[in-house]
Amino acid sequence: MDRHEESGREAANGGDAPCYRLAARSARPEGTRVRVGEVEFGGDEVVLIAGPCAVESAEQLDEIASRLKALGIRVMRGGAFKPRTSPYSFQGLGADGYRMLRQAGRAHGLLVVSEVLGERHVEAAAESVDILQVGSRNMQNFALLKELAATGKPVLLKRGMSATCDEFLCAAEYLLAGGNPRVILCERGIRTFETAARNGLDIAAVPVLRRLSHLPLVVDPSHAAGRADIIPDLAKAAVAVGADGLMIEVHPRPHEARSDGQQALRLDELAELLGPLAAIARALGRRLGIDERAAGARRPAARE
Ligand code: PEP
Ligand code: MN
Repeated sequence: MDRHEESGREAANGGDAPCYRLAARSARPEGTRVRVGEVEFGGDEVVLIAGPCAVESAEQLDEIASRLKALGIRVMRGGAFKPRTSPYSFQGLGADGYRMLRQAGRAHGLLVVSEVLGERHVEAAAESVDILQVGSRNMQNFALLKELAATGKPVLLKRGMSATCDEFLCAAEYLLAGGNPRVILCERGIRTFETAARNGLDIAAVPVLRRLSHLPLVVDPSHAAGRADIIPDLAKAAVAVGADGLMIEVHPRPHEARSDGQQALRLDELAELLGPLAAIARALGRRLGIDERAAGARRPAARE
Protein backbone atom coordinates (compact mmCIF):
# COMPACT_ATOMS: atom_id res chain seq x y z
CA MET A 1 0.00 0.00 0.00
CA ASP A 2 1.51 3.37 -0.90
CA ARG A 3 1.36 6.28 1.45
CA HIS A 4 -1.65 7.87 -0.27
CA GLU A 5 -3.68 4.73 -0.17
CA GLU A 6 -5.89 4.55 2.86
CA SER A 7 -8.94 2.45 3.32
CA GLY A 8 -12.07 3.35 5.22
CA ARG A 9 -11.23 7.02 5.23
CA GLU A 10 -13.24 9.19 7.53
CA ALA A 11 -12.99 12.46 5.65
CA ALA A 12 -16.23 12.66 3.73
CA ASN A 13 -18.76 12.19 6.47
CA GLY A 14 -17.53 14.33 9.31
CA GLY A 15 -15.24 11.71 10.74
CA ASP A 16 -17.74 9.70 12.76
CA ALA A 17 -17.54 6.39 10.98
CA PRO A 18 -15.54 4.96 8.10
CA CYS A 19 -16.82 6.38 4.84
CA TYR A 20 -16.18 3.40 2.61
CA ARG A 21 -14.67 0.00 3.22
CA LEU A 22 -15.95 -2.37 0.58
CA ALA A 23 -14.97 0.08 -2.17
CA ALA A 24 -11.47 0.57 -0.75
CA ARG A 25 -8.53 -0.86 -2.65
CA SER A 26 -7.49 -2.76 0.45
CA ALA A 27 -10.72 -4.79 0.27
CA ARG A 28 -9.54 -6.29 -3.06
CA PRO A 29 -5.94 -5.36 -3.73
CA GLU A 30 -5.91 -7.37 -6.96
CA GLY A 31 -8.69 -5.21 -8.46
CA THR A 32 -12.22 -6.07 -9.49
CA ARG A 33 -13.30 -7.20 -12.92
CA VAL A 34 -16.93 -6.61 -13.77
CA ARG A 35 -18.10 -8.99 -16.44
CA VAL A 36 -21.13 -8.16 -18.57
CA GLY A 37 -21.78 -10.75 -21.27
CA GLU A 38 -18.55 -11.10 -23.23
CA VAL A 39 -17.18 -7.80 -22.01
CA GLU A 40 -15.01 -7.32 -18.95
CA PHE A 41 -14.39 -3.98 -17.25
CA GLY A 42 -11.23 -3.74 -15.16
CA GLY A 43 -9.25 -6.40 -17.02
CA ASP A 44 -6.61 -6.07 -19.72
CA GLU A 45 -9.00 -4.56 -22.21
CA VAL A 46 -9.95 -0.93 -22.48
CA VAL A 47 -13.69 -1.12 -23.14
CA LEU A 48 -15.39 1.29 -25.50
CA ILE A 49 -18.97 2.41 -24.96
CA ALA A 50 -20.44 4.64 -27.63
CA GLY A 51 -23.84 5.82 -28.70
CA PRO A 52 -26.14 8.79 -28.80
CA CYS A 53 -26.83 11.10 -25.89
CA ALA A 54 -30.52 10.28 -26.23
CA VAL A 55 -32.52 7.54 -27.85
CA GLU A 56 -34.45 9.43 -30.52
CA SER A 57 -36.10 6.67 -32.56
CA ALA A 58 -35.77 2.99 -33.40
CA GLU A 59 -34.32 3.95 -36.80
CA GLN A 60 -31.68 6.20 -35.25
CA LEU A 61 -30.58 3.41 -32.91
CA ASP A 62 -30.54 0.84 -35.67
CA GLU A 63 -28.31 3.03 -37.82
CA ILE A 64 -25.92 3.75 -34.96
CA ALA A 65 -25.87 0.17 -33.71
CA SER A 66 -24.97 -1.21 -37.13
CA ARG A 67 -22.15 1.29 -37.51
CA LEU A 68 -20.81 0.61 -34.02
CA LYS A 69 -20.90 -3.10 -34.68
CA ALA A 70 -18.97 -2.56 -37.90
CA LEU A 71 -16.27 -0.82 -35.86
CA GLY A 72 -16.11 -3.74 -33.44
CA ILE A 73 -17.61 -1.77 -30.55
CA ARG A 74 -19.54 -4.00 -28.17
CA VAL A 75 -21.43 -1.65 -25.85
CA MET A 76 -23.93 1.01 -26.93
CA ARG A 77 -25.18 3.85 -24.77
CA GLY A 78 -28.39 5.86 -25.18
CA GLY A 79 -30.46 7.92 -22.76
CA ALA A 80 -34.14 7.01 -22.46
CA PHE A 81 -34.94 9.29 -19.53
CA LYS A 82 -32.84 12.43 -19.89
CA PRO A 83 -31.89 14.71 -16.99
CA ARG A 84 -32.15 18.10 -18.70
CA THR A 85 -31.34 21.42 -17.07
CA SER A 86 -34.43 23.00 -18.63
CA PRO A 87 -37.84 21.38 -18.28
CA TYR A 88 -38.60 22.59 -21.83
CA SER A 89 -35.77 20.57 -23.39
CA PHE A 90 -36.31 17.09 -24.84
CA GLN A 91 -36.79 14.76 -21.88
CA GLY A 92 -36.24 11.48 -23.70
CA LEU A 93 -38.61 8.77 -24.92
CA GLY A 94 -38.92 7.18 -21.49
CA ALA A 95 -39.57 3.46 -21.09
CA ASP A 96 -40.07 3.13 -24.88
CA GLY A 97 -36.46 4.20 -25.20
CA TYR A 98 -35.33 1.29 -22.99
CA ARG A 99 -37.26 -1.12 -25.21
CA MET A 100 -35.78 0.38 -28.39
CA LEU A 101 -32.31 -0.05 -26.92
CA ARG A 102 -32.99 -3.67 -26.08
CA GLN A 103 -34.30 -4.29 -29.58
CA ALA A 104 -31.32 -2.64 -31.29
CA GLY A 105 -28.89 -4.34 -28.91
CA ARG A 106 -30.35 -7.74 -29.65
CA ALA A 107 -30.56 -7.15 -33.39
CA HIS A 108 -26.89 -6.17 -33.60
CA GLY A 109 -25.37 -8.18 -30.77
CA LEU A 110 -24.46 -5.21 -28.59
CA LEU A 111 -24.75 -4.72 -24.85
CA VAL A 112 -26.68 -1.60 -23.91
CA VAL A 113 -26.35 0.95 -21.14
CA SER A 114 -28.90 3.59 -20.16
CA GLU A 115 -29.53 5.97 -17.30
CA VAL A 116 -32.08 5.31 -14.59
CA LEU A 117 -33.40 8.68 -13.57
CA GLY A 118 -35.53 7.68 -10.62
CA GLU A 119 -36.49 4.76 -8.40
CA ARG A 120 -39.71 4.39 -10.33
CA HIS A 121 -37.86 3.38 -13.48
CA VAL A 122 -35.53 0.79 -12.01
CA GLU A 123 -37.72 -2.16 -12.90
CA ALA A 124 -38.32 -1.11 -16.52
CA ALA A 125 -34.63 -0.39 -16.99
CA ALA A 126 -33.52 -3.65 -15.40
CA GLU A 127 -35.77 -5.59 -17.80
CA SER A 128 -34.27 -4.09 -20.94
CA VAL A 129 -30.83 -2.75 -20.22
CA ASP A 130 -27.56 -4.62 -19.53
CA ILE A 131 -25.86 -1.86 -17.53
CA LEU A 132 -27.81 0.63 -15.43
CA GLN A 133 -26.35 4.12 -15.41
CA VAL A 134 -26.56 6.53 -12.50
CA GLY A 135 -26.17 10.07 -13.78
CA SER A 136 -23.97 12.73 -12.28
CA ARG A 137 -26.97 14.54 -10.82
CA ASN A 138 -28.07 11.38 -9.04
CA MET A 139 -24.77 10.21 -7.60
CA GLN A 140 -25.99 10.91 -4.09
CA ASN A 141 -29.59 9.80 -4.63
CA PHE A 142 -29.20 7.20 -1.92
CA ALA A 143 -32.71 5.79 -2.29
CA LEU A 144 -32.00 5.14 -5.98
CA LEU A 145 -28.62 3.58 -5.18
CA LYS A 146 -30.26 1.19 -2.70
CA GLU A 147 -32.85 0.14 -5.28
CA LEU A 148 -30.14 -0.42 -7.88
CA ALA A 149 -28.11 -2.46 -5.43
CA ALA A 150 -31.05 -4.80 -5.05
CA THR A 151 -31.21 -5.51 -8.82
CA GLY A 152 -27.76 -7.13 -8.82
CA LYS A 153 -27.28 -5.76 -12.35
CA PRO A 154 -24.10 -3.96 -13.35
CA VAL A 155 -24.21 -0.27 -12.47
CA LEU A 156 -22.22 2.50 -14.16
CA LEU A 157 -21.97 5.16 -11.46
CA LYS A 158 -21.10 8.61 -12.71
CA ARG A 159 -19.23 11.02 -10.50
CA GLY A 160 -21.29 13.95 -9.26
CA MET A 161 -20.13 17.14 -10.93
CA SER A 162 -19.18 18.62 -7.54
CA ALA A 163 -18.28 15.40 -5.73
CA THR A 164 -14.87 14.64 -4.26
CA CYS A 165 -13.29 11.27 -4.89
CA ASP A 166 -14.19 10.26 -1.32
CA GLU A 167 -17.83 11.19 -1.81
CA PHE A 168 -17.82 9.30 -5.12
CA LEU A 169 -16.54 6.17 -3.43
CA CYS A 170 -19.06 6.54 -0.58
CA ALA A 171 -21.80 6.51 -3.22
CA ALA A 172 -20.28 3.36 -4.72
CA GLU A 173 -20.24 1.93 -1.20
CA TYR A 174 -24.05 2.15 -1.10
CA LEU A 175 -24.20 -0.24 -4.06
CA LEU A 176 -21.61 -2.61 -2.62
CA ALA A 177 -23.08 -2.53 0.88
CA GLY A 178 -26.48 -3.21 -0.67
CA GLY A 179 -25.10 -6.47 -2.02
CA ASN A 180 -24.23 -5.50 -5.59
CA PRO A 181 -20.53 -5.95 -6.38
CA ARG A 182 -20.93 -5.12 -10.10
CA VAL A 183 -20.02 -1.45 -9.92
CA ILE A 184 -18.18 0.52 -12.61
CA LEU A 185 -17.10 4.06 -11.78
CA CYS A 186 -17.25 6.85 -14.37
CA GLU A 187 -15.32 10.12 -14.25
CA ARG A 188 -17.21 12.67 -16.40
CA GLY A 189 -15.71 16.03 -15.51
CA ILE A 190 -16.23 18.31 -12.56
CA ARG A 191 -17.35 21.92 -12.28
CA THR A 192 -14.55 24.47 -12.36
CA PHE A 193 -14.32 28.22 -12.97
CA GLU A 194 -13.19 27.58 -16.56
CA THR A 195 -15.77 28.15 -19.27
CA ALA A 196 -13.81 26.87 -22.29
CA ALA A 197 -15.15 23.38 -21.69
CA ARG A 198 -18.45 22.27 -20.16
CA ASN A 199 -16.62 20.69 -17.22
CA GLY A 200 -13.02 20.03 -16.29
CA LEU A 201 -12.06 16.44 -17.02
CA ASP A 202 -10.37 15.39 -13.79
CA ILE A 203 -7.54 13.37 -15.27
CA ALA A 204 -5.84 13.13 -11.86
CA ALA A 205 -8.92 11.38 -10.50
CA VAL A 206 -8.12 8.34 -12.64
CA PRO A 207 -4.86 7.36 -10.91
CA VAL A 208 -6.21 8.66 -7.59
CA LEU A 209 -9.33 6.48 -7.75
CA ARG A 210 -7.27 3.53 -8.90
CA ARG A 211 -5.20 3.83 -5.75
CA LEU A 212 -8.17 4.40 -3.47
CA SER A 213 -10.43 1.73 -4.94
CA HIS A 214 -10.39 -1.64 -6.67
CA LEU A 215 -13.41 -0.79 -8.84
CA PRO A 216 -13.06 -0.44 -12.61
CA LEU A 217 -13.16 3.13 -13.87
CA VAL A 218 -14.24 4.47 -17.23
CA VAL A 219 -13.95 8.04 -18.47
CA ASP A 220 -16.64 9.99 -20.30
CA PRO A 221 -14.79 12.74 -22.19
CA SER A 222 -18.02 13.87 -23.89
CA HIS A 223 -19.78 15.37 -20.88
CA ALA A 224 -16.45 16.66 -19.61
CA ALA A 225 -15.75 18.56 -22.83
CA GLY A 226 -19.18 19.61 -24.02
CA ARG A 227 -17.55 20.23 -27.42
CA ALA A 228 -16.68 17.64 -30.01
CA ASP A 229 -13.33 19.07 -31.16
CA ILE A 230 -11.37 18.26 -27.98
CA ILE A 231 -12.94 14.87 -27.25
CA PRO A 232 -10.41 12.77 -29.22
CA ASP A 233 -7.53 14.33 -27.28
CA LEU A 234 -9.27 13.82 -23.93
CA ALA A 235 -10.08 10.22 -24.83
CA LYS A 236 -6.41 9.53 -25.60
CA ALA A 237 -5.35 11.17 -22.34
CA ALA A 238 -7.83 9.04 -20.40
CA VAL A 239 -6.46 5.80 -21.82
CA ALA A 240 -2.90 7.01 -21.26
CA VAL A 241 -3.61 7.68 -17.59
CA GLY A 242 -5.10 4.23 -17.00
CA ALA A 243 -8.85 4.33 -17.63
CA ASP A 244 -10.47 0.90 -17.99
CA GLY A 245 -12.83 2.21 -20.62
CA LEU A 246 -14.33 5.21 -22.39
CA MET A 247 -17.90 6.32 -22.90
CA ILE A 248 -18.26 8.57 -25.94
CA GLU A 249 -21.35 10.20 -27.41
CA VAL A 250 -21.78 9.77 -31.15
CA HIS A 251 -24.43 10.72 -33.67
CA PRO A 252 -24.54 10.15 -37.43
CA ARG A 253 -25.66 13.77 -37.93
CA PRO A 254 -24.77 15.74 -34.80
CA HIS A 255 -26.59 18.89 -35.97
CA GLU A 256 -29.84 16.89 -35.94
CA ALA A 257 -29.33 15.46 -32.44
CA ARG A 258 -32.12 16.23 -29.97
CA SER A 259 -29.62 16.63 -27.12
CA ASP A 260 -25.89 17.30 -26.77
CA GLY A 261 -25.30 17.53 -30.53
CA GLN A 262 -22.45 19.99 -29.92
CA GLN A 263 -20.43 17.27 -28.21
CA ALA A 264 -21.34 14.30 -30.40
CA LEU A 265 -18.62 12.77 -32.57
CA ARG A 266 -19.63 11.55 -36.01
CA LEU A 267 -19.10 7.84 -36.55
CA ASP A 268 -16.18 8.51 -38.91
CA GLU A 269 -14.54 10.65 -36.22
CA LEU A 270 -14.93 7.80 -33.76
CA ALA A 271 -13.48 5.37 -36.30
CA GLU A 272 -10.43 7.59 -36.73
CA LEU A 273 -9.81 7.58 -33.01
CA LEU A 274 -9.62 3.81 -32.67
CA GLY A 275 -6.09 3.42 -34.10
CA PRO A 276 -4.48 5.95 -31.74
CA LEU A 277 -6.40 4.57 -28.75
CA ALA A 278 -5.27 1.05 -29.60
CA ALA A 279 -1.65 2.23 -29.87
CA ILE A 280 -1.80 3.94 -26.47
CA ALA A 281 -3.43 0.90 -24.87
CA ARG A 282 -0.74 -1.34 -26.38
CA ALA A 283 2.03 0.90 -25.07
CA LEU A 284 0.63 0.33 -21.58
CA GLY A 285 0.40 -3.44 -22.00
CA ARG A 286 -3.35 -3.37 -22.59
CA ARG A 287 -5.64 -3.90 -25.57
CA LEU A 288 -8.47 -1.87 -26.98
CA GLY A 289 -11.61 -3.95 -26.41
CA ILE A 290 -12.68 -4.11 -30.03
CA ASP A 291 -14.32 -7.15 -31.56
CA GLU A 292 -11.86 -7.69 -34.41
CA ARG A 293 -14.05 -10.29 -36.08
CA ALA A 294 -17.01 -7.92 -36.28
CA ALA A 295 -14.78 -5.11 -37.51
CA GLY A 296 -12.86 -7.37 -39.93
CA ALA A 297 -16.01 -8.92 -41.38
CA ARG A 298 -17.14 -5.55 -42.62
CA ARG A 299 -13.77 -4.32 -43.73
CA PRO A 300 -12.40 -7.07 -45.99
CA ALA A 301 -9.48 -4.89 -47.09
CA ALA A 302 -8.26 -4.67 -43.50
CA ARG A 303 -7.72 -8.43 -43.41
CA GLU A 304 -4.90 -8.43 -45.91
C1 PEP B 1 -25.35 10.98 -19.78
O1 PEP B 1 -24.34 10.27 -19.80
O2 PEP B 1 -26.32 10.77 -20.52
C2 PEP B 1 -25.42 12.15 -18.87
C3 PEP B 1 -26.55 12.84 -18.70
O3 PEP B 1 -24.26 12.44 -18.28
P1 PEP B 1 -23.99 13.08 -16.83
O4 PEP B 1 -24.92 12.41 -15.87
O5 PEP B 1 -22.55 12.78 -16.60
O6 PEP B 1 -24.26 14.56 -16.98
MN1 MN C 1 -25.41 13.77 -23.18
